[in-house]
Amino acid sequence: MQIIKTVAEMKDFVHKIKAAGKSLALVPTMGYLHQGHLTLMREAKAACNTVVTSIFVNPLQFGVGEDYEEYPRDLTRDAQLAEPAGVDAIFAPAVAEMYPKGYHTFVDVEEITNHLCGRSRAGHFRGVTTVVNKLFNIVQPDKAFFGQKDAQQVLVIKRMVADLNMNLEIVTVPIVREEDGLAMSSRNVYLTPEERRAALMLNRSLQQAKAAIEAGERRGSAIRDMIVQTIETEKLANIDYVEVVAMSSLEPQEKLEGEILIALAVRFGKTRLIDNIMLTV
Ligand code: AMP
Repeated sequence: MQIIKTVAEMKDFVHKIKAAGKSLALVPTMGYLHQGHLTLMREAKAACNTVVTSIFVNPLQFGVGEDYEEYPRDLTRDAQLAEPAGVDAIFAPAVAEMYPKGYHTFVDVEEITNHLCGRSRAGHFRGVTTVVNKLFNIVQPDKAFFGQKDAQQVLVIKRMVADLNMNLEIVTVPIVREEDGLAMSSRNVYLTPEERRAALMLNRSLQQAKAAIEAGERRGSAIRDMIVQTIETEKLANIDYVEVVAMSSLEPQEKLEGEILIALAVRFGKTRLIDNIMLTV
């Protein structure tokens, strides 16, 4: 497995793969890899000959006062995990390699970025779509793999790919969870043991909502209130948002029908966690 740090070397690697007629998959990450990321990599390897994973903590997608500086980074550890998952090359550029002096171009998907995380993290998705667009141009993958953990991100990327006529397939992988149900996240390492225990309420509240819908509840507000009340039983939990929305538009839904996304973001101390569940009603 190669570790590549410059755009020029990455393009050279891609050129050789394409010249050999091999298919190429990209798994974009911010590193500090866990089983969620590794599942994406294994699926990528099952689908394509060659897998490139990018490891780049993208400053553009962090807001003022967010955790850009503290975000965990360990490329040596990541390389040891990525290689057995089938990765052929890690692309780990420095910030100045991706955004050199004079950089002034951004990609902005409108409308669906006004909801959920887009509302509470101004500029976040502009940072995501800009960096992902650059990664697609550099790596030219046939397929790119994203986790359902970031449900809105998947929709935003798919919108960008469709709107800009990009020539690749976006593959979505279900959420990978710890045994006790907590969605895996690089940010889980920030949690104190008490916060870690309290965070179990996220998946529990989503499961409770799912059970209520399966039992016939069709009022979006009732489902939302139920989740809020369940999470608020945990004193350490500070809700950013809980939303019951239509999967396609991310607009809040009062009468539940079709494909529904229940998404939430909750703070435990300084750590902001997200989770979600998709249901067809
Ligand atoms: P990140 O490094 O957090 O930016 O995540 C990189 C990719 O891994 C994104 O497509 C995420 O949605 C995906 N991912 C992160 N955590 C999980 C998880 N627990 N299950 C599935 N995919 C995940």
